[in-house]
Amino acid sequence: MELIDTPNFFLSQAVTGDGAFGAYLYKIDKRTTPQCSCGTSIQTPEHVFMHCERYKTDRPISWNDDIVATEASKYLINTMKILWEEEKEEEKTGVNCVRRISHRPRRQQLQQPKTSVRLK
Ligand SMILES: [Zn+2]
Repeated sequence: MELIDTPNFFLSQAVTGDGAFGAYLYKIDKRTTPQCSCGTSIQTPEHVFMHCERYKTDRPISWNDDIVATEASKYLINTMKILWEEEKEEEKTGVNCVRRISHRPRRQQLQQPKTSVRLK
């Protein structure tokens, strides 16, 4: 089953923010910076969909009007696709990308067992 091209795949990421956003990729250790490629802000869904100059093409004028609801979801889906394309490109060029997570030392392995401090 190919999920990656279904509208819901992109829409759910647009809504939850758990997708190809710098802030999220940084959180899960896939990026070295949460910064947006525009350089003005951390790349959150709100920044991308509401404010960023890079992703303003076809941005709906209003998010509340029912008339533009379809337009809005088209915009969200298309913008998520662009973000994914950029993320694929990022993985190739590796500018802000953590290339191989498995090669990074795990925090748990760095901790010595002698400590009495227990982390959650
Ligand atoms: Zn931006």
